[in-house]
Amino acid sequence: MSVVCRITVVAVLFLIGLNSADARHHEGGTRGDNNFGDMRPPNRGGHMPTLLGPPPPPNPEALEVIEELLEEGVFSDEGVILIEHLLLTIEEREEVGEPDLDESERANATGEIANIFEGLMEEDIPNRASEYFRMVVDEYRRASRHSTRRAEHQRRMEEQAEQQAEQDDDNRRSEDDDSGGGKKAGSGDEAGDGGGFSDEHYEAALRFCHDVFETLYPTGKAIINEDNGVAGLKQWRVDPTSAESILSGLALTIHEVGHGLDGELKRTEGRENYYLVAATPSGALIEFDPPGLTTPNSSDYFQGISRSAILLDTENHKRPPDGCDGCILSPHSGDGEWGSDGSYSNLYLNGSPEEGVITHYTEGFSAYDPAFTVSTNNSFDSGDQGYGMLFEETVQYSHSLAWLYLTHDPESGGASSGKHAMLQWFWWNQRYLKLVREQYPDEHAFFVEHWAEAFLTVWGQAWRYMDTPTLNYQEDEYDDLLELVTDDLMLGEVQYVRELAADGAYSRGHDLTASLSVVDPDGNTWTGPQLSGPPLIVDSGSADGDYFDSMPEGWFEPEDRPDITEFIEKYDARLSLEEGGYGNASD
Ligand SMILES: [Zn+2]
Repeated sequence: MSVVCRITVVAVLFLIGLNSADARHHEGGTRGDNNFGDMRPPNRGGHMPTLLGPPPPPNPEALEVIEELLEEGVFSDEGVILIEHLLLTIEEREEVGEPDLDESERANATGEIANIFEGLMEEDIPNRASEYFRMVVDEYRRASRHSTRRAEHQRRMEEQAEQQAEQDDDNRRSEDDDSGGGKKAGSGDEAGDGGGFSDEHYEAALRFCHDVFETLYPTGKAIINEDNGVAGLKQWRVDPTSAESILSGLALTIHEVGHGLDGELKRTEGRENYYLVAATPSGALIEFDPPGLTTPNSSDYFQGISRSAILLDTENHKRPPDGCDGCILSPHSGDGEWGSDGSYSNLYLNGSPEEGVITHYTEGFSAYDPAFTVSTNNSFDSGDQGYGMLFEETVQYSHSLAWLYLTHDPESGGASSGKHAMLQWFWWNQRYLKLVREQYPDEHAFFVEHWAEAFLTVWGQAWRYMDTPTLNYQEDEYDDLLELVTDDLMLGEVQYVRELAADGAYSRGHDLTASLSVVDPDGNTWTGPQLSGPPLIVDSGSADGDYFDSMPEGWFEPEDRPDITEFIEKYDARLSLEEGGYGNASD
């Protein structure tokens, strides 16, 4: 990739405030009509799908199914590359360029995906997922027919150069037929307008969301606000059909619009980072804008060491990535003593920084394996991003968890991924802290000076939603991760930050989490500088404890959560504004 191109990609990734891995759950984007039948001169060659409207990114239902398939590893490497591209927004795809596949690899991958998706449609999956897979299959089959025609055309041109112009015309006509009237209703045309709903629908949906947020979760209103709300609901495919369909789409939308908002605000007023952590019921914001982390070991394009570098730490073997081809810095894969991670590492810790950046993995480092060679590359990878984006995800995962908590049914708390996803990010934060404390001390010192308060605030916020017995979890993932995170060895990293951040004024409090306890599964106790006592999960005497105790964005026990039935009924009554409704009257 040329330098210019790399810079463009990086600029765009900053602009959209996400990492490409994250794009797995990023979707939406407008799909202009002009993508269809956008004829390229035949001699451009190689990139046939640009002739066709590529399928839009999946809706949340389809995404869930796709994520399971990715976790199960059912796709070939080429299939995964194409799927990952499919998960990008149209805009991101334009910036990132075509997937790195030659024409035959691409043909095989589209065929493979079409077959798998077709098989899924026979199964018991949500209708919206099925609709999406039908659209992708149609598009891919059409692309395949087109590709075949194109190859035939190419051969004819070689054989009969004198007939080129005529053949070209024929070809063009057939493409016009293909991309014009033959377009199926609901096959992607509707993606650009959010599924056929008008802006009025989304405005009504936003009024409803804001009533719910004001009552239940003020932070939601600060994130999905007046300025970005309609576009955000549309982009993240919130279904404005009913109050229920809106509410079910908000966990993802809060997370993703949250990324977008932070990304936008970090580029203004000379900031290097920006995090909206919460809004209080009065609308006051709890926000942080720490300066960029700087070490001589900064990753390819980002401040501070690459987050993928935590794969080269002392902890990775305990729960290594599993089935993650992109995790080239991981010396281990498959089950460790605490299981394995079959999903998140693949998204967030792939790739490696360029040569010379990782300096700690040498003889003398306790986890050094002389048989393992550290890879390097100059490409942009999600895992190249530094702590700033590790923290950004931690913030948004904590918002997702808050919303899950606020809307869960205490009688049947489900078994969502919210809690173990949060633990995954906790463990990565702790591993980052351990690695920089031991190996990149300048970065640790900078962190303590500029980032500790933001970190401890989010830590306190997230644990408040973790410490909620009625919100269920997936035991097979959660139990292992909880042991790792609350092990003295790793909890000591957080305790150490608390004590350093207080700058000599630290006064030890007591542990605030009620339903969780510190466990020490391996007898590996804290080995760092002396602490005031055993590390606490959330310390009543520190910044995280302050936050946990006061919960400035509001806190409700499950049985005390405000009733939002009034707003649900008002939305579902479908009355105009004049009639006292939200304005979603059926025309
Ligand atoms: Zn995210």
